[in-house]
Amino acid sequence: MRYIVVSGGVLSGLGKGVTASSIGVLMKACGLKVTSIKIDPYLNSDAGTMSPFEHGEVFVLDDGGEVDLDLGNYERFLDISLERDNNLTTGKVYSKVIEAERRGDYLGKTVQVVPHITDAVQDWIEDVAHRSSDGSGTSPDVCIIELGGTVGDIESAPYVEALRQFQFRVGRENVTFVHVSLVPVMGPVGEQKTKPTQHTVKELMGLGITPDLLVCRSSAPLHEETRAKLAAFCHVAPTAVFSTHDVPNIYHVPLMLEEQGLCATLGLSVQDGGLLDDWRRMAHHLDKLTEEVRIAMVGKYTDLSDAYLSVIKALQHAAMAANRRLVIDWLEAEHLEPGSEPAAHDEAWAMLKGADGVLVPGGFGARGVEGKILAAEHARTNNVPYLGICLGLQVATIGFARNVLGMEGTTSTEFDEDCPNPAVIFMPEISTTHLGGTMRLGSRPTLFQVDDCRIRRLYGGAASVDERHRHRFEVNPDLIERLEAAGLTFVGKDETGQRCEILEIADHPYFVAVQYHPEFKSRPGRASPPFLGLVLAASGQPLP
Ligand code: GLN
Repeated sequence: MRYIVVSGGVLSGLGKGVTASSIGVLMKACGLKVTSIKIDPYLNSDAGTMSPFEHGEVFVLDDGGEVDLDLGNYERFLDISLERDNNLTTGKVYSKVIEAERRGDYLGKTVQVVPHITDAVQDWIEDVAHRSSDGSGTSPDVCIIELGGTVGDIESAPYVEALRQFQFRVGRENVTFVHVSLVPVMGPVGEQKTKPTQHTVKELMGLGITPDLLVCRSSAPLHEETRAKLAAFCHVAPTAVFSTHDVPNIYHVPLMLEEQGLCATLGLSVQDGGLLDDWRRMAHHLDKLTEEVRIAMVGKYTDLSDAYLSVIKALQHAAMAANRRLVIDWLEAEHLEPGSEPAAHDEAWAMLKGADGVLVPGGFGARGVEGKILAAEHARTNNVPYLGICLGLQVATIGFARNVLGMEGTTSTEFDEDCPNPAVIFMPEISTTHLGGTMRLGSRPTLFQVDDCRIRRLYGGAASVDERHRHRFEVNPDLIERLEAAGLTFVGKDETGQRCEILEIADHPYFVAVQYHPEFKSRPGRASPPFLGLVLAASGQPLP
């Protein structure tokens, strides 16, 4: 097992996750099986209770793990399926050690960060690194370990120490330390400044870790003299300094690293040329797309695209498959509501009306929900292609129930507990006392209820599909008959035949909503069917 540890310096947001995933792609192209572990030094057990506003999207795994969005990068780049244990958090390690202490495992000893937490971290890494993540059942050859945060943070100190010790546990030759840093550009001639990188490397070395590779984020390719200076001052070989400069799209990143000789520096060579050819084809295909498709995303964290990262990726995969350049118009759902600030209100409605397709993604809480209902109703009544995801299915149902069934004032009990005629209700099996990890989570089957419908054809005619879930509420089962009689058909249900998973309106160019989150399983080159349907319909192309 070869471990590639990716740490970051200077500041966050350097694309450490994309760099780490791209290195993984190159290792895969060298014929190796790759897995990954993301370390998040926060005290939460998992990302499930964290606001997307603060921390970006909560990514959901097959096993129901609610994890950091970087695991989504790994799954998409490496085409693997990870488990909740692939996301190590301080909350998880401390819980494990404290549980062991209560059992009496350390009887007589003082339990300390070093060695007990640091040992637990190393045990965790070794165990998880060997688990198969590509469905082959065999152990991976390479594990990419991404350390969240910035080296020097108080929170990440125990992990840096654990990783320092780890090189002796598994052999120095089996560990490659990659440090991702920033090279800012200053002055009229655009001088590339190396000092921030020098400082962060010094800090890392002070903690006992010598980087083998430096990856420098910069706007333009590193100049030769910058590279030489970094090598001299940061104790790395000149061939081990890489630049990740601005590129038109992320598919260029693995190619850019390989052009600078990354595999050779690690003593490897590309064997599966086909894999990098695929990436090259995708990168250039995306660069050349000109014809636009305009999708209105109606959400509530629209200033922060990280909050909807996988949805954006899935839309991009679909647009790539449909040969269209994706343009996303971000709409604050609240701005669509009557009584909102007039200029913002007018602008939001103009955007909604100008869109080729409308997407209402998942969400929680009452803010903006009336605006989302209006957006779904706009799409339904004006024959505009619509995809609703999770909450997007629930608001579509509420709008239909209000306006077609005449159920005035109906809503979800999430927004009005006392609603007398709710279209969406709390699922009976969900905990009312604990919020962490208690939703209906992870991969579950959806069985098609009809032999033929648009969304089933998009899924290649399959009898059932496995997609990932994350919700507490569902369409009120008592209403289904009336909704279906009026034309809102529930073409996919869970294995009990009770719970609604997919709805569709046949007499509409594309009105599809799913209770699950198809975005989590979308891959470049294998677009998620509900997204593909939306983009095809929105760009006036025939659907299967
Ligand atoms: N808030 C809704 C529920 O819990 C929708 C969840 C979601 O969109 N992920 O059912």
